[in-house]
Amino acid sequence: MAQQLARGDLNLDQIRADTPGCQSQVFLDSAGSSLPPDPVLNTVIEHLRREAEVGGYRAAAERVDDIAAVKNSLGALIGAEPTSIALSDSATRSWNTFFQSVPIHAGDRILITEVEYAGAAVEVLHRARRAGASVDVIPSDDSGRVDLDALERSLDERVRLVSLVHAPTNSGLINPVREVSELAHSHGALVLLDACQSVGQMSLDVAELRVDALSATGRKWLRGPRGTGFLYVRPDLNIEPAEIDHHGAEWTEPGSYRIADDASRFEFWEYDVAARLGLGAAADYLLALGMHAVEHAVQSRAERTRDLLTLIPGIQVRDPGYGDTASYNQPRSGIVSFTVDGIDSYRVREQLAVRGVTVTVSPSMSTLLDMSARALPSVVRASPHYFCSDDDLDAFAAAVHDVVRS
Ligand SMILES: *Cc1c(COP(=O)(O)O)cnc(C)c1O
Repeated sequence: MAQQLARGDLNLDQIRADTPGCQSQVFLDSAGSSLPPDPVLNTVIEHLRREAEVGGYRAAAERVDDIAAVKNSLGALIGAEPTSIALSDSATRSWNTFFQSVPIHAGDRILITEVEYAGAAVEVLHRARRAGASVDVIPSDDSGRVDLDALERSLDERVRLVSLVHAPTNSGLINPVREVSELAHSHGALVLLDACQSVGQMSLDVAELRVDALSATGRKWLRGPRGTGFLYVRPDLNIEPAEIDHHGAEWTEPGSYRIADDASRFEFWEYDVAARLGLGAAADYLLALGMHAVEHAVQSRAERTRDLLTLIPGIQVRDPGYGDTASYNQPRSGIVSFTVDGIDSYRVREQLAVRGVTVTVSPSMSTLLDMSARALPSVVRASPHYFCSDDDLDAFAAAVHDVVRS
C-alpha cells in the first residue's frame, strides 16, 4: 500500500478489504452516514470493552495521549492548530455552539444563502425572532453558487454573521468560500462555514478559506462514528462561549472562574470517549490515504455517476451545470442528485435498496429555499466515496435503468 500511496493513488483492494460493508452492496450514501473502515470500528469496540472491564475513568486514562491526538489529526485535515478545535457530538451542535456565542442584538442582521441547511436555518430564524434581528437570504447566481455581487450589496455594518454552506446537502454545488470571507470581513461580519459535506471529501485549509469558524460531522465523508463532530474557531478570535462548564472554564474562587484560552472553552466535560477515539482513527485513516488522492477519487466517481445517469432515459441530474447548455467549469462535490420522471424519490430509494443499492432522498425541507426555487419536492442523492469501484457505479446505473423500466 505504501508504494501506491507514494504515487498518490489509492489501493482500492486494500480499502475495500478494510470496508466489509461495501462488499455485499453498492453503498452510495457517504453524504448521509458512511461505512466506517475496520480500524474505526475496532477502535470504538475495543474502548467500549475496556470501559466495561476497568470503568470509564481508568479506560480513558489509559488512552489519554490518543484522546489528545484526535485534535491533531482533525487539525491536520483542515490546516488548523489542534488548540483551535472543539470536539462535539454533531455538526449541528458545533454550529450552534459558535452561532450562540456571536452577540446578536435587536436591529442586527444575519445573512444566509439559498442552500442553507434546515438545521441551521430554523435556528437562525428562531434566534433572530428572539433577538429582534433580521435574516436576509443572499441569492444564488446562474451557476447556483452564492452571488458575490448580491452579497456585497447586502453587506452593511449591521450584519453580524454570514452563514455559508461549503457544499450543500442536496446537490454537487461547491460555494466560493474565500471570496465570501473577504467580503464579509471587509464589512466587519463573521463567517461561519458549514463544512459538513466538504470535510473528508475535499482538501481544505482554513487559512486559505479565511473563515472565522467551521463545523463538520464525523459520520459522513470522514467515515467516523455517529454522534461525533467538531468545531474550528479562528485562534485569534476573541469570542466568549454562550455556555460553559468546568471543562471550558476553571472555577478558581467561590465567586469567579477563568475561561480556557483555546477552543476547549466550547466543549463540555462529558463525552463519548469510544466515539471520539473512533473519530481520531477515521481522521488518521484519511490522512494515511492522502486528502488529494481522496478528493480526486471522489470527484471522478461522482462525475462518472452523473455521466452514467444522463445516459438513462427519464433521469434528470439536478446538479449545477447539468441539464443546460451553459458551460460549467466549476468542480462539483461527491453528491450526485437526480430525479426520475414519474417516480417519487422515496420509491426510487426503496426500489434501489431491493436491488442492493443504498442511496438516500434529500427532501425539500432540508434545503427549502433552493428546492423551492427549483420547484423540486425531493431529489435522490447518490454519494459515492473513494471506496466505490467502477463495478459499483455500473451496477448502480443498471439498477436505476431497471427501476425506470419496471
Ligand atoms: C448533515 C448536514 C448537517 C448536519 O450534520 P449533523 O452531524 O447531523 O448535525 C449540516 N449541514 C449540512 C450541509 C449537512 O449535510
